[in-house]
Amino acid sequence: MTGEATVVKNAGSHFLLSELPQWKPFPAVLKGKVRLSGSEATNPVAVGDRVSFESLQEPSLEHPASIVKVLDRKNYLIRRSTNLSRQSHVIAANLDMAFLVVTLYFPEIKLPFLDRLLVTCEVYGIPATIVVNKVDIFRKEFPEELDSFRRIYEGAGYRVLETSALTGEGIDELREATGSPGDGRVCLFSGESGVGKSSIIKALDPSLNPKVGDISLSHLQGKHTTSLYEMYPLTSGGFLIDSPGLRGFGLVDLKKEEVALYFPEMLKASRECRFTPCTHTHEPDCAVKRAVEQGIISPERYNSYLGMLEEDKKFR
Ligand code: GDP
Ligand code: ZN
Repeated sequence: MTGEATVVKNAGSHFLLSELPQWKPFPAVLKGKVRLSGSEATNPVAVGDRVSFESLQEPSLEHPASIVKVLDRKNYLIRRSTNLSRQSHVIAANLDMAFLVVTLYFPEIKLPFLDRLLVTCEVYGIPATIVVNKVDIFRKEFPEELDSFRRIYEGAGYRVLETSALTGEGIDELREATGSPGDGRVCLFSGESGVGKSSIIKALDPSLNPKVGDISLSHLQGKHTTSLYEMYPLTSGGFLIDSPGLRGFGLVDLKKEEVALYFPEMLKASRECRFTPCTHTHEPDCAVKRAVEQGIISPERYNSYLGMLEEDKKFR
């Protein structure tokens, strides 16, 4: 038999495939020639990849299907060991949405870090939704900070969901955003340790709890566990990829003139800049700087942008 399926688990040399949105995982291995496909990534196949497979019989552990081809990716997320490293590892492919789980405090958020993640998502063409968890605390203790956070990111064009894994607030809305039966939506959940990502996933779908705990644990234990990415079916219909902190993801090679292309609100404003390209720093008649002065672009986002330009210099 032959067919097309999605990689739902990547265990290095072994894979599980399923014909999403149907959830019926079966084992598969790579055929040699696929392994040697000439990409710079250390892994040619990642969770989320659509592949064609062949199998002489019903695939089983003894007789896994063979992956013969990786189909074109609509997007993918890579991790580089360092900014200068040539080696990269594809973490996941064909993501419909990345949910970036954050808190304002406990742990305290660093906006430039979040902005870097958002830039990364833009670079790779992955729609991002920001999930502010622990709002049970923030609404009471830091209502202004919560409002201002929402204003900054909604102003930049992102959807901001407020959740509390503790009270259940916002969980239904989040669940809806992860998809419904039959649409085969694949969602990446990412967040720094302590923001409550595991608690949210458990609130979304209690049946996932033990597995989610397991993978977080294995990620903590091993430094070379990059092949452990795995997809889980949500009873509400979507598919979830749990990912540990996004630290290494923030590293993308961008030229100075390119950075602003990935701040959607700056890209929009920059059409009115007098110079092209414009770095939106020292140039006269810069529409981005004007938008910052007018409060249309938030100073926080603009600062993150400047920070990324500076960092870029360090690497050159
Ligand atoms: P993870 O490291 O991101 O997976 O975070 P956990 O799910 O392990 O949660 C970290 C801590 O935050 C735990 O002590 C949770 O009980 C707590 N926590 C998680 N979600 C919430 C929330 O919505 N409100 C409050 N107040 N605490 C939360
Ligand atoms: Zn400009």
